Amino acid sequence: MSPTTLRGVPAAPGVAIAPPWRPPEAAVHAPGEPLLGLPASAERAAEELAGLCERLRSAGRPEEAEIFEAQAMMAADPELLDAAAVLEAQGMAADAAILAAGDQAAAVLAAIDDEVLAARAADVRDVAARIARIMRGEAPPRLDRRSIAVAIDLPPSVTAELDPALLVGIALEAGSRTAHAAILARALEIPAVVGTVGLLAAVEGVTELAVDGERGEVFCDPDAGQRADIDRRAAVEVERRAADAAMHDWPLATADGQRVMLAANIGGPEEAARAIDAGAEGVGLFRTEFMFMGRATAPDEATQAAAYASVLAAFGDRPVVIRLIDLGGDKGLPYLPLPPEENPFLGVRALRLADAGHAELIVTQLRAILSAGEKTGRVPWIMAPMVADLSDVHRLHELVATAASGRDLAVKPKVGIMVEIPSVALIADLVAPEVAFFSIGTNDLTQYLLAADRTNPALAARQDPMHPAVLRTIARVIEGGHAHGIPVAVCGEMAGDPSGAMALVGLGIDELSMDAGGFGGVKRALAMATRAQLAESATAALAVDRAADARAIFDALRGAAPAT
Ligand code: PEP
Ligand code: MG
Repeated sequence: MSPTTLRGVPAAPGVAIAPPWRPPEAAVHAPGEPLLGLPASAERAAEELAGLCERLRSAGRPEEAEIFEAQAMMAADPELLDAAAVLEAQGMAADAAILAAGDQAAAVLAAIDDEVLAARAADVRDVAARIARIMRGEAPPRLDRRSIAVAIDLPPSVTAELDPALLVGIALEAGSRTAHAAILARALEIPAVVGTVGLLAAVEGVTELAVDGERGEVFCDPDAGQRADIDRRAAVEVERRAADAAMHDWPLATADGQRVMLAANIGGPEEAARAIDAGAEGVGLFRTEFMFMGRATAPDEATQAAAYASVLAAFGDRPVVIRLIDLGGDKGLPYLPLPPEENPFLGVRALRLADAGHAELIVTQLRAILSAGEKTGRVPWIMAPMVADLSDVHRLHELVATAASGRDLAVKPKVGIMVEIPSVALIADLVAPEVAFFSIGTNDLTQYLLAADRTNPALAARQDPMHPAVLRTIARVIEGGHAHGIPVAVCGEMAGDPSGAMALVGLGIDELSMDAGGFGGVKRALAMATRAQLAESATAALAVDRAADARAIFDALRGAAPAT
């Protein structure tokens, strides 16, 4: 790789080439300059943010819209505005005061070791910068030509406001795949690379930049050879999108017609329609914790039941797997007081909350799921995350029994588990007789097996579920499940990765569940090989000793260019 090529974390697929653009830094005025007042500026900021929220919501992106809904609330937050007023009264310029108040609020959030709250810290700073800009009467940042935005971090509100026809790429020094900037880039289909160490220093004086959001590469002033390569990748990308779209009406099947169930991962009832339109044969993972975030109290039983019932009804007789809240640990909530932990990914979270004084939270959720089943007459599939062993399975059944006690259920739920902790994977044969299904969470299974924090961009290259240790573990889980006649699915990101999906089908998986955006690519990959070829390749992959070698086997099978 040439010295002007940087490697970061792939955050949104696609390639782009254009001059770099740095968003302007927030300037601070001296006291005494004529500025619009704080309350009026904050009100206007809240209106702008609510407008952005509405735009994304009507574009069918409710999850991203919520980022701005929360920011609009922050702009009206009396605590933030009072803190700014106090600083102003102490002699600080009004715009400097709101920026400082934003920094203070952000520092409080950032000090809590919590990925979700850390993202909020960036959001508060962003809100304060918007209010300060309005006070100064400045226009929002604008692009006047096709550009690739380059920054330490790019606030979602800036990304969403830039002209999408001109913002062709994003390269960030900070961030991870799960950062708001990355989520939004994927939603807006803007190629993005995040977590690019040394980016800002490297782009100094550079006139043209290229990003490859698929491979996580940033090229500074690419030479003729690199440009040709990038143009080729861009053409491939255009073809890929068209080919994926052309698969819309096809089922998920191997070249010899062996069907594999195709399910969607969703984060809320509003995503059900998009999944159904894309051809989902069910929901393999409903991440319910999103419904619990960004609020002062937990949603009550009736609110939850209505949400679950709407998904069950939308999918009719197709299965819907509702995952019990995966909260706690790194995903703290204001109404869920838990002591701080050194290693939250290994901490008191999810099902473990039941034994930490929060059983009621889970029982209420289970009651809501059972009510939704009764109301719709559809069988809810209940899935517990973070199950480590048989005692956790027994605890799960106890909690379901508590929720069902005193009720004469006409519709009995199916109760299954996520296999994402290595210990339960290794005893899958012992656990299978006691549950109705397994769904393998390859995101966590990979991070735990390989001891590589999934949120750490410095370890991104190590987090490949194609690692033979992960493949062997998955093979063992499938074997354990099938020996006792229960279906085994995968709902981690591996299911939506074309080569990963091929490996999983080769290992004998029954169902792949992914974001609906991944359906076309996975259908295309699977259609390129017979079940026997996939099985043979899986056997070969189990015998190699590096993730790259296992991946290369399936890349070759689907005719993809080897990763560099
Ligand atoms: C997983 O761990 O693979 C998974 C699907 O769950 P989450 O990404 O929500 O932890
Ligand atoms: Mg998980």
